[in-house]
Amino acid sequence: MIIAYFILFLLRDHQIDKYEMLNRIRSAFKTVAPARAVTYSLIKRLYSKSNIIIENEVTYPLELNPPPSYIEDRIKFFDELKAQYDAELESKTKAPIKVTLPDGKEVEGLSWKTTPYEVAQGISQGLADNAVIAKVNGTLWDLDRVLEVDSRVEILKFDHSEGQEVFWHSSAHVLGEAMERHYGGCLCYGPPIEEGFYYDMHIENRQVSSNDFKNLDTILKKVTKEKQPFVRLEMKKEDLLKMFAYNPFKVRILNEKVTTPTTIVYRCGPLIDLCRGPHVRHTGKVKAMAVTKNSATYWEGNSEAESLQRIYGISFPNDKMLKEWKHFQEEAAKRDHRKIGQEQELFFFHELSPGSCFFLPNGAHIYNTLVAFIREEYKKRGFNEVVTPNIYSTKLWETSGHWQHYSGNMFSFEVEKERYALKPMNCPGHCVMFDHRPRSWRELPIRMADFGVLHRNELSGTLTGLTRVRRFQQDDAHIFCTMEQVETEIMSCLAFLRHVYNIFGFTFKLFLSTRPDKYMGDINMWNEAEKYLENSLEAFGEKWELNPGDGAFYGPKIDIQIRDALRRYHQCATIQLDFQLPERFNLTYVSGEGDDKKRPVIIHRAILGSVERMIAVLTENYGGKWPFWLSPRQVLVVPVSSKFDEYAQKVHKEFNDNNYRCDVNLDAGETLNKKIRNAQLAQYNFIFVVGDKEQTSSTVNVRTRDNKIHGEKTLEVMLARFQHLQSSREDHSEEDF
Ligand SMILES: [Zn+2]
Ligand SMILES: [Zn+2]
Repeated sequence: MIIAYFILFLLRDHQIDKYEMLNRIRSAFKTVAPARAVTYSLIKRLYSKSNIIIENEVTYPLELNPPPSYIEDRIKFFDELKAQYDAELESKTKAPIKVTLPDGKEVEGLSWKTTPYEVAQGISQGLADNAVIAKVNGTLWDLDRVLEVDSRVEILKFDHSEGQEVFWHSSAHVLGEAMERHYGGCLCYGPPIEEGFYYDMHIENRQVSSNDFKNLDTILKKVTKEKQPFVRLEMKKEDLLKMFAYNPFKVRILNEKVTTPTTIVYRCGPLIDLCRGPHVRHTGKVKAMAVTKNSATYWEGNSEAESLQRIYGISFPNDKMLKEWKHFQEEAAKRDHRKIGQEQELFFFHELSPGSCFFLPNGAHIYNTLVAFIREEYKKRGFNEVVTPNIYSTKLWETSGHWQHYSGNMFSFEVEKERYALKPMNCPGHCVMFDHRPRSWRELPIRMADFGVLHRNELSGTLTGLTRVRRFQQDDAHIFCTMEQVETEIMSCLAFLRHVYNIFGFTFKLFLSTRPDKYMGDINMWNEAEKYLENSLEAFGEKWELNPGDGAFYGPKIDIQIRDALRRYHQCATIQLDFQLPERFNLTYVSGEGDDKKRPVIIHRAILGSVERMIAVLTENYGGKWPFWLSPRQVLVVPVSSKFDEYAQKVHKEFNDNNYRCDVNLDAGETLNKKIRNAQLAQYNFIFVVGDKEQTSSTVNVRTRDNKIHGEKTLEVMLARFQHLQSSREDHSEEDF
């Protein structure tokens, strides 16, 4: 009785969650004397009963009432300074400026007055409505922020990758606002990610649960409906330290990350956040938005620091896009490569070797077929395969710089008192190979390809299926060439990757990433190389975008993102220039003029990227319906009764001898229909049914995994057809005969 009252009492207290509730019940048993006789199973029974009630009844208020006091304080602070800024802006002299549009057209404007939004309106209201962000003289710029000088203005929409990033970044503020309104708590970081965004928060006495999402979504809707403008303000660091005094995390960011006397904050509605921006014009631009998941994390990923709660979200400019995204998410869950890998017996992982995959025969077939495909292309494209060691003395890694910068991710060990490490990449080994004898300009370009096994010591907690592993192989190659050869080499790399991706049915986006602030090497060399990369991208003829400053410190690169059947983007291929490695290894060749100290340039390139990861991408892209040429189950022979087992085995042998993945089902316990159905579910591209008629005329009765019936065909016809399907690497090939 006492216990029952106690639970009722707890249920009225809406501020506790079910886990805390169990603890309270347990401690109540310790203090309430008569209850000591009650066994633990009763506690459990009561708990599970109370659990059901809690799911229905414990509700947190939609918004904290009263709201956290810091909200009011921040706004006061902000309004005062904003009024000062507005007066300053008002007093600036407005002079005529020239605004240049991407097509070269020029329009008139006024400094400290004209905004990119007005410029967009001048082009069309439709463009202004769909605009996400502007780019002014190469810098992302709020649409409502005044232009200061003569400007090149570009208007970006959601379909532009930078537009998308700004859109999701802005959505993170909306989420942050909802989190403050619902939980209180201290916001930490809220960045956009590859797909969507998240916000981290520190709260003392509450656990984020997926039950909260409904409330959060309701507040998000309110926020977007209110069309709160994003207002930018530059503030002094000392003022900001006062403004954010309630939040130790923002104070840490200010003290540790902000080195300038002033920095930027943005306000949307009640939220004022430390942020360089830029953002969409107002929260109403984020028309469709949803909270997707939550997780626990630590401040700056450091497990010694405070634990934080992370909430993820996704958003789009309209509802239709959000619905589509949700549909593709559901489809993606069905197609998870780990699930299909198990169902189709392709591969598995084992705790005895975390992050290193066991490929079963069917998975190994896919693996080897991909490698064979690339190998075949190598022959046509002038790449030469080499085989290099897996284990190197750390002296090599010191020369390459890996030891100084990457040793934490390398497996190393001692042999005969010397330290060795497993290679995380092939390049240093290839430099040794280039350097093993004098090289002449006549030999260049040298294209070394290597499917060598690589190991990287990823933290066990980050390993996920085939997408994050410790052991993998790449279709890796290094091209040693002269600077003048860069343009044509890059062109061929691009043509190579287009050929491969067309076969997989992937479309792709290209990005040119140029010199970062912290670069190494000669600036003229960088400029020349960037020009060559740009030329080859132009000549290649596919759309590309510039990622200024995003290159590696050792050279510019082309980033490639492929889009799969679920419209997800993956980065697999790499084309990367390197000026540093040839320096570090002191690589030289003798030029046509007899200069024996000429430095080659290295191009790192891969198309599949990691074969392991590509198998994950392809499994999900095809949803386990492998195209014939890659399929580990190309054909199953099924006799109509055991009378025809011998003929079925003959057909099986014939196709096996011709190198096809052929199986035969002689199980007398299964009906013919069941055998066919199971074969279709197992994704055999073709099923050959054989009986009396087929045996007499040396034929097979052909149907596909999608139950298309092609009817009776001779073995010769089928062998010829298979030959064609295999070599053309066509998709959906079992449809047309
Ligand atoms: Zn921001
Ligand atoms: Zn490399």
